[in-house]
Amino acid sequence: MMPMLLLEEKQSASNRTPRQINRNVIFNQVRMRQPISRAELARVSGLQRSTVSLIVEELLRERWIVEGLIGDAPRGRKPTGLHVNEKRTVLAVDVHPAQTTLAVADLSGRITTQRELQLPSEPQKVIRAIVSGIKKIIAEHADCSFEGIGLTVPGRFSHQLKKTIFAPNVGWPIAQIKSKVEEATGLPVVVDNVANACVLSEVWFGSTEEMHDIVLVNVSEGIGTGIFVNGGLVRGAGEMAGEFGHVQIDRDGIPCGCGSRGCWETLASNRAGLRYYKEITGESLPSIDVLLDLAEKKDPHANEALTRMFRALGQGLHMIVTTLAPSQIVLVGEFTRAWARACSIISDELRKFPLPALPMLRMATEPGTARLRGGVALVMSEKLL
Ligand SMILES: [Zn+2]
Repeated sequence: MMPMLLLEEKQSASNRTPRQINRNVIFNQVRMRQPISRAELARVSGLQRSTVSLIVEELLRERWIVEGLIGDAPRGRKPTGLHVNEKRTVLAVDVHPAQTTLAVADLSGRITTQRELQLPSEPQKVIRAIVSGIKKIIAEHADCSFEGIGLTVPGRFSHQLKKTIFAPNVGWPIAQIKSKVEEATGLPVVVDNVANACVLSEVWFGSTEEMHDIVLVNVSEGIGTGIFVNGGLVRGAGEMAGEFGHVQIDRDGIPCGCGSRGCWETLASNRAGLRYYKEITGESLPSIDVLLDLAEKKDPHANEALTRMFRALGQGLHMIVTTLAPSQIVLVGEFTRAWARACSIISDELRKFPLPALPMLRMATEPGTARLRGGVALVMSEKLL
């Protein structure tokens, strides 16, 4: 087995310290292989046994992991198994313009409770509804110790200003969501754009440290991208980097929530897929899931609508491939239910351009819960590192 970590190379490329990277590697190996012994950890991580022991003691002291007996050694000291401390949990809150998903997850990203919350139509009542949903789920889990709340938003959150600064698809006051949830719960709340959170989750919960240049594209009501380059998130001035969704593709296109028109997201988001279906049939569908259901039943109009959406996705991804040359593009969204078809249309579209090499296109590690795991990763990467 190849060693997991080439420290010298990483040091220059990553904005995390070697100690942070090693803690992350050890914790992730415990998470994936629990219960696991120290000797086994040294073997699978490729790290020195002394380094492993030091980090394990630290993680035990901070109660991220716990130790129990495993196996039956005939004599001498019994080997001990390390596993993730199940009593510590995170609340993940995935905010969409019209609904919000709440989930309780353990530190390994395993979701134990999940609940949908339809948001009220009156803008002034929305935050209150989210806060009361959060308080209710915390009250129901009185036996859990919550490390914090990881809140993903369909917009840009400024860590400097501590508020959401750009959320063109949200029609209610989302700016102060962090402080409102913090005040109501007394828990630390980590907020970020959903695509940033998802790309962190791919790195955080990923099995290796090799993912260094990865772009995650979240296709939902709009399109968001999270860019992880040279071992760190790209945020840019005012934390506005990565708004590929608002690059104009069609100058005569339809108006976009950002004030411009013909932006990539007006052509390739879930809303675009539904609009194409309506253009073809004259019929409105309630959600992208219904469109995907129809396509699975071989409805030709639904398939045509999805083909248009996937072609437009490919066109926009071309910008990302050309500008950033990522080794991987991870796609998140309901449309990944039709992955084989989407992937083939997107790849065909990318091949139309003279690119040196196509990046690997793939779905998130656990596509169904990618956004919620993103929320968990936000809290974990802040607390554990
Ligand atoms: Zn726009």
